[in-house]
Amino acid sequence: MSNRAYNFNAGPAALPLEVLKQAQEQFVDFNGSGMSLMEMSHRGAIYEGVHHEAEQLLRELLSIPDNYKVLFIQGGASTQFAMVPMNLLQPGKVASYVSTGSWATKAIQEAKLFGETAVAASSEADKFMRIPSFAELNVAPDSAYLHLTSNETIEGTQWAAYPDTGSVPLVADMSSDILCRPLNISQFGLIYAGAQKNLGPSGVTIVIIREDLIGTPSIPVPTMLRYSTHAKNDSLYNTPPTFAIYMTNLVLNWVKAQGGAAAVEKMNREKADLLYTAIDGSGGFYRGCAQEGSRSIMNVTFRLGSEELEKQFVKESEAQGFVGLKGHRSVGGLRASIYNAVPLSSVKALVDFMGDFQRRNG
Ligand code: PMP
Repeated sequence: MSNRAYNFNAGPAALPLEVLKQAQEQFVDFNGSGMSLMEMSHRGAIYEGVHHEAEQLLRELLSIPDNYKVLFIQGGASTQFAMVPMNLLQPGKVASYVSTGSWATKAIQEAKLFGETAVAASSEADKFMRIPSFAELNVAPDSAYLHLTSNETIEGTQWAAYPDTGSVPLVADMSSDILCRPLNISQFGLIYAGAQKNLGPSGVTIVIIREDLIGTPSIPVPTMLRYSTHAKNDSLYNTPPTFAIYMTNLVLNWVKAQGGAAAVEKMNREKADLLYTAIDGSGGFYRGCAQEGSRSIMNVTFRLGSEELEKQFVKESEAQGFVGLKGHRSVGGLRASIYNAVPLSSVKALVDFMGDFQRRNG
């Protein structure tokens, strides 16, 4: 389809064209049922089939062991900022966090509502342009968990590998990089991710939780905010976001058709390499924000010589069909979000545009 934009939105973000077309085909009449999936009971066999397929596919694509539950929850990753401490923080324990940027900071702020927090490491002194090394991590022994933000969507940094936290459960916000590469789930106690970047539309949040952490919260927690409620009921305690889960299922099928997480990682690295090579090869006209070794393969952040030039870049890029290249308002600069569904052709077009823009303004 020639009228598709070069979509570099940070989230909600590009979805595979095949998935959108499939949804369009099934929109009014789902598999000959005489109704849209959105018009069906969530207790019916057809919806339940979709619901369980999505869970099974996620288990398969991320090799999730049997002692982990996969949950579909509403409220976005922002609700997980609260649910994690509400459910996991026990009296006498501390909630430990790695402070890596805007999203980690929000997670910490929320945890403070529920008890004592500790910062195990921070890159704030470097304007969050890097991920702390494992050696910098100072995890309090009485930590209920250690929370990290796998990919800082705004700053454009990403953990290249995850620390071994021993008996302290590792909790990760993977909202902006889940399924961008294979994972060793057993390294984690809990993973959460809003779907609207790599997995589907907004409206559903994926939680992968080790069963022994589900337990009983030490404080009164509303029914809907307890992991146990969703775990006991296969995420069907109340009406789930059926359309978001359906779309996520289509995206997961698409990932499988691409060859799974390893194949998708290869594509993601190719896209990211192309962009970073263009930035690094520009003789300083473009400057990458994140430090080498901490660069995200999902959100590529960069700057130009002046804010004026950056404004011009955004304006001209928009005129040529590029969407979403303006950096987050809190940090400025430019950002290309290149999630799983962003095709290589869009990245190639962006690199061409960047070269052209430099020739005219360098
Ligand atoms: N964490 C990260 C890393 C994010 O990128 C975002 C959304 N951009 C959030 C949390 C918040 O997600 P939500 O809007 O789903 O609450």
